[in-house]
Amino acid sequence: MRCPFCIDPDTRVIDSRLVGEGDQIRRRRECTKCKERFTTYESAELNFPRITKSDGRREPFKEEKLRGGILRALEKRPVEMDRVEIAVANILHKLRASGEREVKSMQIGDWVMEELRTIDQVAYVRFASVYRSFEDVRAFLEEIENLENELPPELKKDQLDLLQSDDGDDS
Ligand SMILES: [Zn+2]
Repeated sequence: MRCPFCIDPDTRVIDSRLVGEGDQIRRRRECTKCKERFTTYESAELNFPRITKSDGRREPFKEEKLRGGILRALEKRPVEMDRVEIAVANILHKLRASGEREVKSMQIGDWVMEELRTIDQVAYVRFASVYRSFEDVRAFLEEIENLENELPPELKKDQLDLLQSDDGDDS
């Protein structure tokens, strides 16, 4: 770290100790050139970053807004609130762990889509169609096709049985 007195880049730590409840470290440093001493404090950056929107505006992150967006996509879908809270917690963790001061709203949208994809595929498509502007209708249809291909085999079999149930019932 640069010396604040003579701007020499070479300083060394001569003492470091935990402060308060241990969530901060206080370091005494000494400049190797001018021998001045100074103190630095280090703590984890755990504040939520600000959100930058696509038009360049910035706003503070609001957990309620995130939860609201997820719940809107899940409206009338058979999903337990516990599962929603896990999704919210996962995204909060990613936001904090990013260590960034600003995160694009599109990035949060992508994280929401990742979560919805594992929770409920109808909600996922709902959210994706609103949130991410699919480049054209074809990209959107491909996405739906991909989802259908991911159906577990037993579900596919059920659908086949339904289609064939009209055949051969008269015998
Ligand atoms: Zn110095």
